[in-house]
Amino acid sequence: MGKIISIANQKGGVGKTTSAVNLSASLAHMDNRVLVVDTDPQGNATSGVGINKADMDQCIYNVLVEDLPAENVCVATQVKNLDIIPATIQLSGAEIELVSTISREIRLQKALESLKPLYDYIIIDCPPSLGLLTLNALTSADTVLIPVQCEYYALEGLSQLLNTIRLVQKHLNKSLMIEGVLLTMLDARTNLGLQVIEEVKKYFQDKVYQSVIPRNIRLGEAPSHGEPIITYDPKSKGAEVYLELAKEVISHGERVG
Ligand code: ADP
Ligand code: MG
Repeated sequence: MGKIISIANQKGGVGKTTSAVNLSASLAHMDNRVLVVDTDPQGNATSGVGINKADMDQCIYNVLVEDLPAENVCVATQVKNLDIIPATIQLSGAEIELVSTISREIRLQKALESLKPLYDYIIIDCPPSLGLLTLNALTSADTVLIPVQCEYYALEGLSQLLNTIRLVQKHLNKSLMIEGVLLTMLDARTNLGLQVIEEVKKYFQDKVYQSVIPRNIRLGEAPSHGEPIITYDPKSKGAEVYLELAKEVISHGERVG
């Protein structure tokens, strides 16, 4: 049975999509079967793995709103072992359209049930909000991975996210756990980044991954080539650290059982 990990933080630009794409590709590179589920109407994870959104006439929207089976919209990527359920701009209507549908918070969970046995990991990239799409992702997930950008105010807004996670645990998904907290975009030249690491570790303690993602030009460039870093520049620091992260995620799963 695959493990479902949602990558969530309602702040935009903290590295959710970069981490969803590159953690997934690294896990796939290590011979795991991986599915990325793009639940952000921006579709950045979709284009980030080289899928042309303009070519898609169906996406996660049709699954969530129209009950299309999820396997009908799964597509293979250029990366071995890595599939994606894409998102297109059509999804931007879903937040509102879902409000009036039955079991609106568990639609993604239901949709992924039949896919779970086919993958080792299902990684869900969340939009930058705590709306119904993120709720669906948290309700489907075994665990949630929280990227935190190494910048001033890093912890701001996290209490809101943790509150939402608690509500989901109480009402929708009792077994949801925090997978880990990932520090992203560290600029090692400044003291600020190191201070933020200290602060986040004080707060989240052993939930914080040893792997810290540095600010890396190649990581920023890769999406415009529609490639994860592991194929775009396998020798880069970014590729190295996301592989390290994948190892931590795998060993964490083994520890928990
Ligand atoms: P989110 O999904 O949380 O909105 P993204 O992953 O899209 O955040 O990252 C925001 C921007 O920063 C993107 O342009 C991305 O390419 C860039 N970026 C993300 N992580 C890094 C990094 N470690 N180094 C350099 N650029 C990065
Ligand atoms: Mg994103």
